[in-house]
Amino acid sequence: MTADRDDTLTERARLALARPDLLRERAYVDGAWLDGEAVIEVTNPATGRVLGRIPDLGREAALAAVAAADRAQADWARRTAKERATVLRRWFELINVHIDDLARLMTAEQGKPLAEARGEVAYAAAFLEWFAEEGRRAYGDLIPGHQGDKRLLVMKQAVGVVAAITPWNFPAAMITRKVGPALAAGCTVVLKPSELTPFSALALAALGEEAGVPPGVFSVVTGRPGPIGEVMTDDPRVAKFTFTGSTGVGKLLAARCMGTVKRVSLELGGNAPFIVLDDADLDAAVEGAIASKFRNTGQTCVCANRFLVHDRVYDAFAERLAARAATLRIGDGLEGPTDQGPLINAAALAKARGHVDDALGLGARLLTGGEVLPAPGAFFSPAVLRDVPARALLNREETFGPVAGLIRVADEAEAVRVANDTRAGLAAYVYTRDASRCWRMAEGLRYGMVGLNTGLVSTEVAPFGGVKESGLGREGSRYGLDEYLDTKLINWSV
Ligand code: NAP
Repeated sequence: MTADRDDTLTERARLALARPDLLRERAYVDGAWLDGEAVIEVTNPATGRVLGRIPDLGREAALAAVAAADRAQADWARRTAKERATVLRRWFELINVHIDDLARLMTAEQGKPLAEARGEVAYAAAFLEWFAEEGRRAYGDLIPGHQGDKRLLVMKQAVGVVAAITPWNFPAAMITRKVGPALAAGCTVVLKPSELTPFSALALAALGEEAGVPPGVFSVVTGRPGPIGEVMTDDPRVAKFTFTGSTGVGKLLAARCMGTVKRVSLELGGNAPFIVLDDADLDAAVEGAIASKFRNTGQTCVCANRFLVHDRVYDAFAERLAARAATLRIGDGLEGPTDQGPLINAAALAKARGHVDDALGLGARLLTGGEVLPAPGAFFSPAVLRDVPARALLNREETFGPVAGLIRVADEAEAVRVANDTRAGLAAYVYTRDASRCWRMAEGLRYGMVGLNTGLVSTEVAPFGGVKESGLGREGSRYGLDEYLDTKLINWSV
């Protein structure tokens, strides 16, 4: 017990927050900070030490948060869009003022390099800024009547109470990408963040409170997912359920939501192809591949998962990608500049190693990395494998780790066919210098997002989301606001 306490003190000292009170070990429900009888320990994946504890709340707290959101919603929606925007804008500014603290907290609980954490916090804040502005443009329509005495008006109204569940890989941005548009539209939100990375969510809530988000408009219920998720999917007061996470869990929860016919948005898993054609700028393709594959230690839903490389450039690309991957600096983001943090936990390590072993067993060749590094910390050296057969797990499942497997393709048509041979449809990437090929590939790929000569596709101003089993709906951009608005017809006889 003493050793545990010492570990936590060590972690806290390393955090060195300018505002230590931003690390909250309480949930935030109806404007109050709550303890719980049971707690969940939150571990730093770079050190294996306990960073802090959160209340393990359940059904009662979730019901209280939903009731508070329901009570608060009408008043919040009655405010003008400009009044709501002022609060969101203040929240955005406060996040930017405290960006260093938020980044350090994120690195400590999630493991990503500090520079990436800082980038995510800025990206997270940008959704509040964008939707503060966009919320003022929730325009309706005036449709010419179908009969002489009829006037048809279409108005957009807030959906109501929103329940949101978010994952650990982007502990801040996955929250603001939902909460920004919801609050801008006049909805209220109950959030359950991942129990692995709750401190970013709670720090955001603390800053939201300071920015003037009224009690009940945004609550954060911490705890194990089952009981909280049941309230969120079953309670008739929840009008909309929005989920980011794995495809399996998303499908189960979405099905449950149909009991009360909620509106549902899903941001689920991917299996992104990264296509390198024979006329590609190989240096640019390698840099794009590094950004797309190894960002967040390979733990993003839009991470390149399969490299489909044209026969004529296959050897050169494989060699250069492996050489570049070997230069990535692995380490604890709080201890100096790094490019690769730890994976989130031991299960993620085992999956990455399992995918490497499976591919090797099927005849692939390892060019670099692929090793589980000695404890403490869940570190794995970035791996590049060539000659990975189509049936390898690497090609069929989302690896969610720093493992790049290369497949050889003969031409553009084969690349599209192999790329589309999956139930996932989130992001795809293509490198080619030929503009006609760019069009053909962009149109032929069955994905929600296509990066042409870039390994990064997301920004708050563009729609983010997938087709097929990668999701429903879009986040970010003007399309992201629609997810939180109902369309109402007024058919008026004059
Ligand atoms: P996950 O296991 O599905 O968890 C996601 C969230 O759901 C977490 O908050 C988790 O809670 C919660 N959860 C799990 N089981 C639940 C249940 N039975 N009822 C209610 N909630 C439940 O996914 P993950 O491993 O955290 O995240 C990685 C996945 O997310 C990957 O597949 C990735 O591609 C996907 N993702 C998609 C996007 C996108 O925009 N499309 C973005 C980021 C990530 P706990 O963590 O507390 O257990």
